[in-house]
Amino acid sequence: MATLTLNTVKKSFGKTDVIHGVSIDVADGEFIVIVGPSGCGKSTLLRMVAGLETVSSGDILIDGRRVNEEEPMARDIAMVFQNYALYPHMSVFENMAYGLKIAKVPRAEIEERVAQAARMLQLEPYLQRKPRELSGGQRQRVAMGRAIVRKPAVFLFDEPLSNLDAKLRVQMRLEIKALQRELGVTALYVTHDQVEAMTMADRMIVMNGGVADQIGKPLEVYADPATEFVAGFIGSPP
Ligand code: ADP
Ligand code: MG
Repeated sequence: MATLTLNTVKKSFGKTDVIHGVSIDVADGEFIVIVGPSGCGKSTLLRMVAGLETVSSGDILIDGRRVNEEEPMARDIAMVFQNYALYPHMSVFENMAYGLKIAKVPRAEIEERVAQAARMLQLEPYLQRKPRELSGGQRQRVAMGRAIVRKPAVFLFDEPLSNLDAKLRVQMRLEIKALQRELGVTALYVTHDQVEAMTMADRMIVMNGGVADQIGKPLEVYADPATEFVAGFIGSPP
């Protein structure tokens, strides 16, 4: 378990300012959703937390420890992407075990952690299959399994459900929430879908052109939008 703090985090690519100073305090075990239209800087913000992108200014703290200069693997974070990024030639078991092998986790412990994740994700019957032999929902579960086996303190999700059909998307929202509670991890979840944000978030952050327009509980944001942008975005069809 961990807290996550962003302190006036800014990002520029060359002369273009993309994130204008975002501050967030994510509590231990909290599920925060960052929501906003395409291009507002959601992925960039998440990638800075993951260490896949440098921070131009400001600080990122995990459990009070400044991690700006830490390598991604050292940050105690795991990230789940929209496009799964599974290894096509590896089995489900190997996909989940790979990161642990790299980290030199002993074989017996790898098997135990993968078995536990497979149980949680209902993937036990599919461990020897290749990704192409799975449904979209099962592939997304493998991607989550790969993150879970690392036992991270913080989970980052970048539009993990965008490639799934509408019915499965609704089901997987519930699964991800249940899993996050069961694991007790702190989560930062990005989506462009305001309904997804409203249904999943403990608190949500509405982003508008690199600025956090509002941070609050879904019902607070819904009932009392801080800006015209927030009102328009939350009220618009998904
Ligand atoms: P979102 O995830 O909300 O759709 P992004 O974080 O991907 O938004 O992008 C925010 C802005 O930053 C966009 O204008 C995008 O073009 C720009 N951007 C993202 N990555 C880079 C990069 N590596 N170099 C230059 N511009 C980038
Ligand atoms: Mg994005």
